[in-house]
This record gives sequence, C-alpha cells and structure tokens, in this order.
Amino acid sequence: MTNRPRRIGVFVCHCGTNIADKVDVEALAEYAAGLPGAVSARTYQYMCSDPGQDLLKQEIEELGLNRVVVASCSPLMHELTFRRACEEAGLNAFNFQMANIREQVSWVTEDPDEATERAKRAVAAAVYRVAHHAPLEVKEVSVQPASLIVGGGIAGIDAALRIADSGKKVYLVEREPSIGGYMAQLYKTFPTLDCSA
Ligand SMILES: Cc1cc2nc3c(=O)[nH]c(=O)nc-3n(C[C@H](O)[C@H](O)[C@H](O)COP(=O)(O)OP(=O)(O)OC[C@H]3O[C@@H](n4cnc5c(N)ncnc54)[C@H](O)[C@@H]3O)c2cc1C
Repeated sequence: MTNRPRRIGVFVCHCGTNIADKVDVEALAEYAAGLPGAVSARTYQYMCSDPGQDLLKQEIEELGLNRVVVASCSPLMHELTFRRACEEAGLNAFNFQMANIREQVSWVTEDPDEATERAKRAVAAAVYRVAHHAPLEVKEVSVQPASLIVGGGIAGIDAALRIADSGKKVYLVEREPSIGGYMAQLYKTFPTLDCSA
C-alpha cells in the first residue's frame, strides 16, 4: 500500500427509479462525502451510461482522485465497465470498489429509511475497503485448456460431453471397469422411462 493520501470519489447511481425510489440518494451522497478519505460524492441518473462514465473520468482527472467507489448495481453487471472507465482516466483499475445498493438494498428492502441506512453501511464498507486497495497489474499466462473429470457416472459423462462439444480436451477418469455409475445399473429411469443404459 502506498502512503499517498487517499482521495476517494464516491458516485451514487439512481439507476432510474430502481435505487432512487427507495434509497435517499442525496442523503447517501452527503453521508459518503463525510467518510474518511472521501473528497467528493456525486449522484447521477445512470452511472453506467456514457455520460455517467464521462462524469467519473472527469472527476478523477479534475479532483485527482486515486480511489473510486460506485454505489449502484451488482458488480456482475458493471464492475468491468467502471474498472475500464477508471483505467481510461489513468487510474489503476483495481483502485475501484463497487457497493451493491440495488440487488442487496433497494430491491430487497421495503422501508425507504431502512434502505437508506443499509445503503450507507454498504457505501461506508466500500470506502473503508478501497482505501486499502493496492494497484494490481493484469498478467496473461498460457494455460492448458483441458479438463479432468473424476467419476464417469451420468454427471461426469454429461459434463465431459458438454466440454468436448465446446472444442476442449477432456480426460474422464473412472475407477470401475466401465462408466455409467448408478444409472448403468438401473433398468428404466423415472419419470421418462428411458432405458438407463
Ligand atoms: C435405486 C436407485 C434408483 C434410481 N432411480 C432413478 C430414476 O428413476 N430416475 C432418475 O433420474 N434417477 C434415479 N436415480 C438416481 C440416479 O441414478 C443418480 O442420481 C445418478 O446416477 C447419479 O449420477 P452421478 O454421476 O452423480 O453419480 P454416480 O452414478 O454415483 O457416478 C459416480 C461415478 O464416479 C465414480 N467414482 C467415484 N469416486 C471416484 C474416484 N475417486 N475416482 C474415479 N472414479 C470415481 C464411481 O465409480 C461412479 O461411476 C436412482 C438411484 C438409485 C440408487
């Protein structure tokens, strides 16, 4: 971890009405701006949109942010989007942290006051966490794209066929003299009455 003072920017997404209908986004941003290391906190309708990403890049450059938190949806949706935006503004992509205040807060909390409190806790955790992030480098290493499947029952056979169908090499290892597992010992299977073998 470097000793440079943390300059953390927090961006709170409305996600249209998805977040803003439940979470008081302005109160959340005001709270976030007072967290240790935070130098700015903004709200925006759709942080993942091009103008949202431009806002993030602009603030990184203008305010000299060295850490970024986006409070929005699940990282599964847009972590890569925001990491890329950070990188395009000259910030290491890993000096970024997402707080999921949609799937984990607004979508699953009935009471708006409670949702806002939960969102504050999620954002505080993200701000504390990102302060400890160290810049990382992405390295590419070659891998052997083959799979080993232990057990040639129906599950192993099916997995092996699916992987093989995608063009990858598969090694299927079975400890018994023949494959098939339990299925091979049955006559017909419920409910389709297919021949098991
Ligand atoms: C009496 C009975 C009736 C059933 N009837 C039905 C039915 O009508 N319809 C239905 O859909 N399902 C039915 N089932 C369930 C079905 O048979 C099982 O869900 C299915 O066979 C499980 O497949 P599997 O590949 O997960 O495991 P298994 O069939 O147990 O296969 C595991 C394989 O891994 C091998 N193995 C384990 N350890 C190792 C190791 N260390 N190294 C190498 N190989 C190893 C074993 O030898 C075996 O071949 C029935 C099961 C039973 C017992």
